[in-house]
Amino acid sequence: MRLRRLLYALNVLKTGLRLHCPHCGRGKLFAGWFRMHETCPYCQARYERGPGEALGGMYVNVALAEITALLGFFTIDALTDIPALWQLPFWVLYTVLFFVLFFRPARGMWIAVVYLTGGVYPDPDYMREYQRSETDVAPTSRSKEHE
Ligand SMILES: [Zn+2]
Repeated sequence: MRLRRLLYALNVLKTGLRLHCPHCGRGKLFAGWFRMHETCPYCQARYERGPGEALGGMYVNVALAEITALLGFFTIDALTDIPALWQLPFWVLYTVLFFVLFFRPARGMWIAVVYLTGGVYPDPDYMREYQRSETDVAPTSRSKEHE
């Protein structure tokens, strides 16, 4: 049973890496190089619910860029006599290129992780739900001001 769940999770992550909707596997995540669809064109699953959810993908991207750059730097440093200062421009360029080129797969993987934790699902009434939750918050914040 656990193996089955693990294989399912790996399959969902693979779907995210392929830049497809983790819910249905058919819809594309991106409308352009950096611009994402808000919802899946096939199943209407909402990819991001709140502001700042994309930060998780960026953390993954930055971490992978830095880890691979450091491993590369120390490997080259151990195997060759190239001074560290001469290597520096290459590894800075490598990090920037890695961040740009891996941006989409990192976002796709992060959306797959959010899907696995229950945060990506179809909801046609999203705007109505969102507006209702805003009006629910207003009275409590007002009542705190008068205390
Ligand atoms: Zn979908």
